[in-house]
Amino acid sequence: MILPDASLGVLGGGQLGRMFTLAAHSMGYRVVVLDPDASSPAGLIADQHIMADYRDRAALQMLGDECAAITTEFENVPADSLEHLEQYCPVRPGADAVRIAQNRIDEKTFIQEHGLATAPFAAIYEVADLEAAIAGLTPPLLLKTASMGYDGKGQRQVSTLDEARVAFRDMGDIPCVLEEMVDLEREISVVLARNINGETAVYPVGENRHVNGILDTTLVPSTADPAITEQAIGMASQLADTLNYCGVLAVEFFCVRQGELLINEIAPRPHNSGHFTVDACTTSQFEQQVRMMCGLTPGNTGLLSAVVMTNLTGDIWDNGTPAWQHVLNEPGAHLHLYGKREARPGRKMGHINCTANDVESALEITARIRTALHINP
Ligand code: AMP
Repeated sequence: MILPDASLGVLGGGQLGRMFTLAAHSMGYRVVVLDPDASSPAGLIADQHIMADYRDRAALQMLGDECAAITTEFENVPADSLEHLEQYCPVRPGADAVRIAQNRIDEKTFIQEHGLATAPFAAIYEVADLEAAIAGLTPPLLLKTASMGYDGKGQRQVSTLDEARVAFRDMGDIPCVLEEMVDLEREISVVLARNINGETAVYPVGENRHVNGILDTTLVPSTADPAITEQAIGMASQLADTLNYCGVLAVEFFCVRQGELLINEIAPRPHNSGHFTVDACTTSQFEQQVRMMCGLTPGNTGLLSAVVMTNLTGDIWDNGTPAWQHVLNEPGAHLHLYGKREARPGRKMGHINCTANDVESALEITARIRTALHINP
């Protein structure tokens, strides 16, 4: 067990790392962040910020020497760096799980190999693979880069071979997945925490709405059929066990109209769709990340109230700083800003959790705030 006063390392200094740092600090741990960006949200509040590339061996050694355990908040940290760090101290989650989640081809293949469903897809390594792939899939299709894609980036809708060829070239001739667009009834996600002994705690299932490929809203409890949410929890837990996973894991699902449940992707870290846990659950997903890396028991994941989480992207800074009083004057609204200096369209700048006795009431508070801040309906 790693106890307070110890130093915890985190690779990546984004908002997830910042909220991890806040949770670790409140529990009495020190935090060392490795991130090349001088003004990274987590680096600004960490006890120590090592400003270096994720592959810089001297920086990794400094982190390894300083810390009792290391975690990651950014899934595109090179898995090789995590593997390298394993010689210094426990790295949780380990390099193997992160490596699978970093590549859509490996991730979807892994999921299917374990008997779980994804949208039908084909791996595309070179342009010549497209013809056979298209013949075996039903359009419309999505071409997605196998790695480094997030928030709908690195994806293009295509229906014909010619369109797919153009898209593949535009993406730079790099490995991709070509996948069927499914008829979505809703999207849900499961966030869970699993410790080194396999003890697992699962959060209530969130229901997610996306705008332009970016998460916009998470509602909890979800309106999905309880049989579906139970099935999703079972599938996520099975994946965590199969990976012998240690840490916080998020699994995103597509609920397809015919009642089928498909896994979209997994995130080996706390997830945007788990931000509701900060204000609406006994233990936040970030406290849970601390607990898992420190070899502690998972905290209680019980829901304290219904909640609607709304992401704040840079778009609402178009006319200057948003009028925060409209959020802060709402007793049920909790504002979280990540300390990012520059607002850009689509950039995640913060989020708001609206808590209430039921989701309808939380949606009413959310609707007032959205109108006042000019957040798209
Ligand atoms: P991703 O980056 O793969 O998580 O995709 C971002 C969002 O795009 C998803 O949350 C869905 O809203 C949508 N999307 C991605 N893949 C598909 C698909 N195969 N069918 C329908 N919608 C999709």
